[in-house]
Amino acid sequence: MTAARLLAHSGWEVEVAGPVPTSTRWVTLSARTVQLINDIWDSDIVTAATHYRLASRRVIWDTDAAAEVLEPLVALESSSLAATMLEKFSREHLGSVSSGSTLSAQEPTPARSAQFVIDARGRNSNFPRRYSGRRQMRVWEPISIDHGAAEFAEMHAGIGYWCFLFPLGSKQLCLQIATPEPEISGTLSEKIKNDASDHSLLAKLVEKVPDLFDLATSVIPIAPSFHTQPIRASRLPVGDALMTLDPLCGDGVGHGVKSAILAVAVANSAAVTVSTEDALKHFELRTTRAFASHLKHCRGYYSKIRHAAPWEGEVESIAQAMEKLTTSNRDEGSTLLVLEDPDAGHSAKNVCHVKRPYLKQA
Ligand SMILES: Cc1cc2nc3c(=O)[nH]c(=O)nc-3n(C[C@H](O)[C@H](O)[C@H](O)COP(=O)(O)OP(=O)(O)OC[C@H]3O[C@@H](n4cnc5c(N)ncnc54)[C@H](O)[C@@H]3O)c2cc1C
Repeated sequence: MTAARLLAHSGWEVEVAGPVPTSTRWVTLSARTVQLINDIWDSDIVTAATHYRLASRRVIWDTDAAAEVLEPLVALESSSLAATMLEKFSREHLGSVSSGSTLSAQEPTPARSAQFVIDARGRNSNFPRRYSGRRQMRVWEPISIDHGAAEFAEMHAGIGYWCFLFPLGSKQLCLQIATPEPEISGTLSEKIKNDASDHSLLAKLVEKVPDLFDLATSVIPIAPSFHTQPIRASRLPVGDALMTLDPLCGDGVGHGVKSAILAVAVANSAAVTVSTEDALKHFELRTTRAFASHLKHCRGYYSKIRHAAPWEGEVESIAQAMEKLTTSNRDEGSTLLVLEDPDAGHSAKNVCHVKRPYLKQA
């Protein structure tokens, strides 16, 4: 939706195809990501969606005591944000939304002839992708519990798992547990119960919901993945369709928005300054670097996680994925991209020419 909005504002005729999202997923957004989204959408669109504000994060990751990160977070139900954006976009660009139509599961085909197709179908976009490991996350439906109006998210690592909990208002908690192997062993629940320290949200949860580990969950692969399909104007992937990030970085949404901005810069540049081929090469290079940087962070985190031994295989997979990326991550000179089409009626001060490395300058 962010790519659609930016393109429409640059003077492109945009058609949005696909169903209104319905599946519920709770994520947390940093203040920086909230700001980025609100700036682009020209309103407080994040808090117009279903959300709860949190004051901080408590992290027990390595051998040190819990660290309190006093950075506000917003717990957000992501499909409600997508629906809010779609509604605003439809209002502002009447006729640009082909409701109910669904892009093909295989190759995106626009309803009418189009110069660019932005593929934002998420991690299920069905294009080949390479995963950097086998780790997975077990995600609970919001759990009803009186947690005493906690206003912080909690992240901590134990033997063979790390977990992330955050409140949704005063009566519900979200719980997510990551493990290195696709199979969750039967002894894991006992370990987690024993690990829960006195004042943690996890301890409250374990105490008040004894059947916690019998509740329904979904299991999602969380090792970062990167598309392996050539980037083309007829299918320019953004967000999770382009790359999925390990949720431990907590910024999948922010990265998705940044890739959308870059895709728009590619389309605008191809319209006015550089060949489509050069603009796409630039996109490939920038996004490959962003993915390489994420892998580097992951390697650091999983190497210094409490009780790092169970994660050794994952650290090895991350290292292998980094090696594969570096061969295709060469700098081939400078490309000038524009963020907005200067011919689209904007005043000159709104035209932003960006030289590589544009992400670093932004
Ligand atoms: C367990 C877990 C926890 C996470 N926690 C966080 C977090 O705390 N913070 C954070 O920032 N990120 C988090 N992320 C990552 C974040 O959820 C994603 O990066 C983000 O949702 C990607 O947005 P997207 O729009 O690219 O994809 P999605 O949100 O998956 O949206 C894709 C959309 O495409 C639609 N679609 C699919 N197929 C078709 C089709 N054929 N035709 C038309 N439409 C289609 C879908 O209905 C959906 O609405 C987490 C991820 C996981 C797995």
